[in-house]
Amino acid sequence: AYLDRIAAADETIGAYLHVDAGAAMESAEAIDAARAQGEELGPLAGVPLALKDVVVTEGVPTTSGSKILEGWRPPYDATLAARLKAAGTVLLGKTNMDEFAMGSSTENSAYRVTRNPWDTDRIPGGSSGGSSAAVAAGLAPWAIGTDTGGSIRQPAAVTGLVGHKPTYGSVSRYGLIAFSSSLDQAGPMTRTVLDAALLHEAIAGHDPLDSTSIDAPVPVLAEAARRGAGGDLAGLRVGVVTELGGEGHTDGYEPGVLARVAEAVALLEGMGAEVRQVSCPAFDLALPAYYLIAPSEASSNLARFDGVRYGLRVGDDGSRDLDEVMALTREQGFGPEVKRRIILGTYALSSGYYEAYYGQAQKVRTLITRDFTTAWDDVDVLVSPTSPTVAWSIGARVDDPIAMYAADLCTLPASLAGIPAISVPCGLSEGLPVGFQIMAPALADDRCYRVAAALE
Ligand code: GLN
Repeated sequence: AYLDRIAAADETIGAYLHVDAGAAMESAEAIDAARAQGEELGPLAGVPLALKDVVVTEGVPTTSGSKILEGWRPPYDATLAARLKAAGTVLLGKTNMDEFAMGSSTENSAYRVTRNPWDTDRIPGGSSGGSSAAVAAGLAPWAIGTDTGGSIRQPAAVTGLVGHKPTYGSVSRYGLIAFSSSLDQAGPMTRTVLDAALLHEAIAGHDPLDSTSIDAPVPVLAEAARRGAGGDLAGLRVGVVTELGGEGHTDGYEPGVLARVAEAVALLEGMGAEVRQVSCPAFDLALPAYYLIAPSEASSNLARFDGVRYGLRVGDDGSRDLDEVMALTREQGFGPEVKRRIILGTYALSSGYYEAYYGQAQKVRTLITRDFTTAWDDVDVLVSPTSPTVAWSIGARVDDPIAMYAADLCTLPASLAGIPAISVPCGLSEGLPVGFQIMAPALADDRCYRVAAALE
């Protein structure tokens, strides 16, 4: 049924970069046959799903939205792809994304435009916009996204989905094409909180192949979602972050978004939560800090795309030396936003500037983490809008990188601190979905699911 939907609607939506209907049918039929034989099946046997194209998949084209990886078929599976396979899921295809996950609208993809199913003249968010559009349009029941500075939560918010960024280190990064290694995390994008919890449980857990993987048991999340759905939040202490759309900090926030978020807060109060305002002054600096740290790490990570090891190679006709082939390949293989970030990051890391830019940004990162630590003395969760605005029109921000970056205002603090954060739908503004963000202390992902389920 999903393959039929894809065939009928994906030309318009543009969610996928690669669909192999034959392979998907084959793996679905193999599961049916195993079931008929009475074989023991994985917990998610037969569930179809889509993976963001940043996830490396054995033998299946993987581009990270970039021309520089065109034609690359990885020789191995990312840990999360292997775990999903073992759980019995059926891979429908790989979804579109901003090139190397740099962007908030999926317009930086080297391949195609992805449209928001709620209004096809609008963006589906980004960078996991192929995943959000696929689930929102019914082209997959579940999808995996990755979130470095908001790329699961913001696309989920603007397409009316649930999206969760796990605690940093709790889902393996092995086999995710690296953007900013100290921030990257993969997580679920689904229609319901319980679905997100089930998908999250399937990919979580320690992985010796990722040196930042936390050696702790797989968290129990579905149970938290079921408990939360009961709607009893008695005693839960909720902090509304002043710096994220609160008094004196409403610049750039749409009134309709703030109204829906205020209603969600009132609902929490109605379920027994104690609500208070919490000030986190360093959050005002999250945007500049992130846009130094992420490009710095990216400039280092993207050095591996040299025209020799993977994908595209330009000008290798015997008339040029290796340096020229590398330069030509990178010139033609990377898009403008990726080049901008490589240049910014290289500058911020260069000697003489390192202390003033990268070093300073790391200090701000520490201050943001401290604001969270202080807040956890008084509250159990912090809440805010997920995105300051609803989905904007395709093309509206493509010539204005700063306007594009401003979409990440609310999602960046949790990324920089490595803590879990979920976006759950909280109604519509001008007919378009609004997302409500719930942040919790590191490893308390279950709290995000519990509160999100209560609001569902
Ligand atoms: N929009 C942010 C960026 O462009 C976040 C992207 C992400 O989370 N991958 O860096």
